[in-house]
Amino acid sequence: MGQQPIRMCVFCRRKLPKVELTRFVKYDGVIVRDDTGSLPGRGAYCCKDDRCVRMAEHDEKGLLMKSFKKN
Ligand SMILES: [Zn+2]
Repeated sequence: MGQQPIRMCVFCRRKLPKVELTRFVKYDGVIVRDDTGSLPGRGAYCCKDDRCVRMAEHDEKGLLMKSFKKN
């Protein structure tokens, strides 16, 4: 067992093992949830906290979208 990759939830900014996060990717200008973790491209991550999940569903503050504009 190696080290788990760590990713940050874009909403609460907690750092968690990648396996505990939901991955989103931007595909054709639209943010889609990547349940299988197999879609290509840069991912943005959301933890499974209820509040974060709800924010990801609506992306009210555009945080997911914003995270794809960086870099
Ligand atoms: Zn979170």
